Amino acid sequence: MTINATLINYLHLCYRKLWLHANVIRMEHTSEVVSEGKLIGEESYPQRADKNQELEISYELHFPSYGITVGCSAKIDFFDTKLGVVHETKKSSAKEFAHEAQVKFYLYLLRKNEIEANYGILEYPKFRHTERVELHEDEYETVESWIWKAYQIATQEDCPAALAKSKCKNCSYFEFCWSGEEDV
Ligand code: SF4
Repeated sequence: MTINATLINYLHLCYRKLWLHANVIRMEHTSEVVSEGKLIGEESYPQRADKNQELEISYELHFPSYGITVGCSAKIDFFDTKLGVVHETKKSSAKEFAHEAQVKFYLYLLRKNEIEANYGILEYPKFRHTERVELHEDEYETVESWIWKAYQIATQEDCPAALAKSKCKNCSYFEFCWSGEEDV
């Protein structure tokens, strides 16, 4: 089981969503969703269409107390190598900590690969907002705890409990989780 940025994002949204995605139960057309996000990035920042800015990285994180090594990977759509800045564009119309966690995960993996990564920028073209994301060294343990938690959830046998239905409105798994339920 490889932990990627999507799973780190979902860890901060819903454990069930993480588990479903990790176990390849896809209600969303994931590739289309990803493409759409990427397209928004390319349309909003056309100077970045250059594929050379894309970066794929991986890292093996060992947890000695459990005797387990967890593989991590990420595909970063735009990394400014000159300035050491990760840009992540979101099609969402609201800020979420899950986005910030995703960028911190990128910064962590870059630095573990000895690539100079100074900070990240979250971009929300829909409401013309940008947010700077830092990762300080004393936060590495936090990122590692996310990786471990995501790994634990992804590899557990049972599907985690659903969230309260009111929190599920925009989730692509809504039908999966709630079809057959009475409206409340
Ligand atoms: S519909 Fe709700 S409970 Fe189901 S995966 Fe999505 S957020 Fe989680």
